[in-house]
Amino acid sequence: MSDQPVFSRLEPLLPLVSKPVQYVGGELNAADTNWDAADVRWALLYPDAYEVGLPNQGVMILYEILNEQPQTLAERAYAVWPDLEALMREHGVPAFTVDSHRPLAAFDVLGVSFATELGYTNLLTTLDLAGIPLHARDRTDEHPVVVAGGHAAFNPEPIADFIDAAVLGDGEQAVLDITEVMRRSKQSGSPGGRAELMLRLAETPGVYVPGGYDVSYRPDGAIEQVAPNHPRVPRRVVKRTTADLDSWPYPRKPLVPLAEAVHERMSVEIFRGCTRGCRFCQAGMITRPVRERSIKGIGEMVERGLEASGYTEVGLLSLSSADHSEIAEITKGLADRYEGTHTSLSLPSTRVDAFNVELAEELARNGRRSGLTFAPEGGSERIRKVINKMVSEDDLIRTVSAAYAQGWPQVKLYFMCGLPTETDEDVVAIAGMAHRVIAAGREASGRNDVRCTISIGGFVPKPHTPFQWAPQADPDTVDGRLRKLRDAINADRRLSKQIKLRFHDGKPSVIEGLLARGDRRVGAVIERVWRAGGRFDGWREHFSYQRWVDAADAELSRQGVSLGWFTTRERTEDEVLPWEHLDSGLDRDWLWADWQDALSEQEQDDCRWTPCFDCGVCPATGADIEVGPSGLTLLPITPVSAGG
Ligand code: SF4
Repeated sequence: MSDQPVFSRLEPLLPLVSKPVQYVGGELNAADTNWDAADVRWALLYPDAYEVGLPNQGVMILYEILNEQPQTLAERAYAVWPDLEALMREHGVPAFTVDSHRPLAAFDVLGVSFATELGYTNLLTTLDLAGIPLHARDRTDEHPVVVAGGHAAFNPEPIADFIDAAVLGDGEQAVLDITEVMRRSKQSGSPGGRAELMLRLAETPGVYVPGGYDVSYRPDGAIEQVAPNHPRVPRRVVKRTTADLDSWPYPRKPLVPLAEAVHERMSVEIFRGCTRGCRFCQAGMITRPVRERSIKGIGEMVERGLEASGYTEVGLLSLSSADHSEIAEITKGLADRYEGTHTSLSLPSTRVDAFNVELAEELARNGRRSGLTFAPEGGSERIRKVINKMVSEDDLIRTVSAAYAQGWPQVKLYFMCGLPTETDEDVVAIAGMAHRVIAAGREASGRNDVRCTISIGGFVPKPHTPFQWAPQADPDTVDGRLRKLRDAINADRRLSKQIKLRFHDGKPSVIEGLLARGDRRVGAVIERVWRAGGRFDGWREHFSYQRWVDAADAELSRQGVSLGWFTTRERTEDEVLPWEHLDSGLDRDWLWADWQDALSEQEQDDCRWTPCFDCGVCPATGADIEVGPSGLTLLPITPVSAGG
């Protein structure tokens, strides 16, 4: 495969496609890579459109870390839209990176970051356009090593046929270890070829090589066992956990998109992990324990990132940003520092309490009050106990009243539908809550025009959560409940005109459920969907439920399983789950006990503020919770003058 840039062949096609600027690269803070000086070359693929992929923090972090290493380079690639795909096929242009426009097949490693399972068909498009064999078993020494990462990599079994390896957990150190394995292998003339390289990767902490395991099935369709097929392959792969975020202050120089992107601001990850214990939340479970960045580290990243990017908005990111032990000091310090400038601050937090409103007030000093978002997640007190979201309706009413009273014109409330044990009543209860919110808001603000948006997402049971055993609700049930909810909201005309209800039908959730909890047999379904034209499945306008149903019928029935078997079926305690050889640190018995607690509506505390309840993560990963107060102060604290 030639390593020469393909831009001269791509350029004539660009005027013929939508948003051509997304394919040209050269963004502010893009790396200046030197192909010939590098001996290990990574292509980092985000298998979705540029506008979604460019702001992705994971890719930005790894891109910078790798490019800082001597003799290592990393370039970025995004999924191309179907209009460009068709032209690339017609004109024989291979998949390329946006940095130097070199063919993906010329790189040593193709790292693919999956934020959602619905990106799997885009992986196949990219491999095919790159001329890389779809199946790992067909690749030779000449082909890149395809490595998956991101949350979806915690169960990569549905894409096991298409990837060579997956990184479990935090990627910062894992990509450096993989780089070293690649370098040593290349420098010593690749002894033993690709097979030996795969074994070396399998021996690398946190790296899972699916080809090193054989899966056998029982007559009832469940997994009999997943067993290593080579003595050098570990029985279980434990996730990587980055400690001390202050020593990983990335991205230092955030990328600034050329084309419109979903976020146009710089983001600072203020902590990683979450121990609130919401039972539906895979991100919270697989990123434990909580590790905070210090107030000093945050201040330095904000200052340096703004200077490097020219952004005027900073997002303080995490899974629940109001939970940082020093968040009041951080927001006050930053709001003081940037008061009177054009820099605005945002804190994506959905915590339902008055403290969150106070933080929002602090951050709004520099900007206007648009809306505040809270996430009760469940409509009734009962279902909130099941999901471990300890919020009472009175808490919510108090919180939204405070927000409306302080001049916020609208609140957004997030809920889920299709939760385990859910009944119609649990969902219809959201209507009563929304009515109370508007009535309380009118009273607190003295205004009639306060607004409330209710957003509902379909619940998908995910691996490594207490709900991994739960039956997923079928789309008809979800759609029926949402119709009842809409009718209940509209039953009170005086209030309903101030309430906006946003939801989608339940079908994409079922496919996400198939891909999330599937095993290796689901790979054939993905390939069939892709061959039938499946692309950009996370985009409503491209998603076809029927295409997935047809492919599942064709590929799964001959193996004695089905779409329903993978989604709406409840698992038993003794069933071997497809991802059990992949260790997120969570103790299986603890997860099962937490599932039983959910069924009996028992809540679980947060170990940040109560004693450890032995979820298993800290001993399994050799990590510990890292929370403040740190005793450090936000630096520098000198106010920036207006217009600065
Ligand atoms: S092991 Fe204990 S301290 Fe660590 S995350 Fe689990 S419950 Fe919290």
